Amino acid sequence: MLDLNHGSGFQYQQPDRDSGITMAVNAAIDTALVVRNRAQIPRRYVSTSGIGRDCLRQIQYDFLALPKDEGRDFEPATLRIFEAGHRSEDVVAAWLRVAGFDLRTERRDGRQFGFSALGGRFKGHIDGCLVAGPVAMDYPALWENKALGAASWKEVVKKGVVLTKPVYAAQVALYQAYMDLPAPALFTAMNRDTWEIHCELVPLDAALAQTMSDRAVQVVQASDTEELLPRAAAERSSVLCRGGRTAGGWHSPCAWQDRCWGTCR
Ligand code: SF4
Repeated sequence: MLDLNHGSGFQYQQPDRDSGITMAVNAAIDTALVVRNRAQIPRRYVSTSGIGRDCLRQIQYDFLALPKDEGRDFEPATLRIFEAGHRSEDVVAAWLRVAGFDLRTERRDGRQFGFSALGGRFKGHIDGCLVAGPVAMDYPALWENKALGAASWKEVVKKGVVLTKPVYAAQVALYQAYMDLPAPALFTAMNRDTWEIHCELVPLDAALAQTMSDRAVQVVQASDTEELLPRAAAERSSVLCRGGRTAGGWHSPCAWQDRCWGTCR
């Protein structure tokens, strides 16, 4: 029998409280995340995930994959949140399946379902399609999931996705239209703190889908003719550019502020 008395040499070790190990491990992870992100080939198409943003010029910069301002690449903390979002999609999909939904998330070849328009210069990939399930709703229906911080999640629960997250609503409308899924979409939002799931059915807003589709055409055509699209802000100090909260929700700082307001085009 082991002698766990003091001085025996077999006591459980005290945890190492040196915060140095936390810093060292996290620094290694952050470095790896940044390297991995930089190694990704930039997207060369207008994405449904960003087409609902306020500023057409920002969408155009993104489409053209122009280099971001110095120091405005995604921070490691943001990359971690992005990954949490992707992982939450798998978790919620598994929960829906175990609950009895017939949820299709990928094609036979393992790729996501999606659409491509404008010669491949406008694309979107859906989280999934619900073909049948134990809940009374119209099938087939688009499934779109987001993982949100607690405050943002509570706002969506209170006011709904259309009012609080117009960028997500635009994405949903486009998918419903382009994927020919006119039934109300099931939008699920996972609370990143508690893992609670908020669900709502989002009816197809055909007018919104058309507006967003027109924006994509505008971005592609203007880029073809080297026309710079207008700014959505009158000055650089605008919340749209520097980031912050407006009545329309949270805006991340624009990654092309120097390019937009400086001489570099
Ligand atoms: S800096 Fe402001 S106006 Fe310029 S592209 Fe970005 S959001 Fe638009």
